Amino acid sequence: MIRYALACEQGHAFESWFQNSAAYDRQAARRLINCPVCGSTKVTKALMTPQLSGTKKGGDAPRSAAAPSQATSAAAAVASQAPPDAAAAPAPAPVAMMTPQERELRKKLKELRQHLVKNADYVGQKFPEEARKMHYGEVKHRSIYGEATPGQAKELHEEGIEFHPLPVLPDERN
Ligand SMILES: [Zn+2]
Repeated sequence: MIRYALACEQGHAFESWFQNSAAYDRQAARRLINCPVCGSTKVTKALMTPQLSGTKKGGDAPRSAAAPSQATSAAAAVASQAPPDAAAAPAPAPVAMMTPQERELRKKLKELRQHLVKNADYVGQKFPEEARKMHYGEVKHRSIYGEATPGQAKELHEEGIEFHPLPVLPDERN
C-alpha cells in the first residue's frame, strides 16, 4: 500500500491509500477518486508520501524521486482543464528569446497594431469589398482593418491593392 496526499480542484487536501502507484494512476484517470470535502473528482497528487506498509521495499519502488510535488494550485488548475493523462504536461506554447532590439521592435509592432485598431475602421469580413471600393475610387481613402481569407488576399494582391496583415503578437491570441 502507498499513501498519497491529494488535492482537489478547490484546493482541499486529503490523503488516500492505494495499492501502488499504478492503481492511483488508473483510478485518477477514471475519476474514481473523490474529494471527501466537496466530492470533486478532479483530483491531483499534491505531495507524494511514500509511506509503504505491509510490503517490503522491492519490485514496486516509490517514484518519489521522479515525481516532483504538485501541491501548487496552478498545477490543479491545469489539471482541471486538461485530460487526466495530460495533466502533468500542458501544451507547449510558442516562445522566443529576444534581444533588446527585437524587444524594441516588438514594442513598435504592438504600437502599430494599437494605432491601427484605434484609428482604422473595423470592417470585418467586408474588408475585400471595402478595400476594392477605395482602390477604384468609389469611396474616400481611409484606414480600415478586417478579415480576408487567403484566397481573397491573393485576389486583392493580384488587383494591385496594397494591404498588410495586421501584426498579431503571440500573447494576444485568444
Ligand atoms: Zn474538494
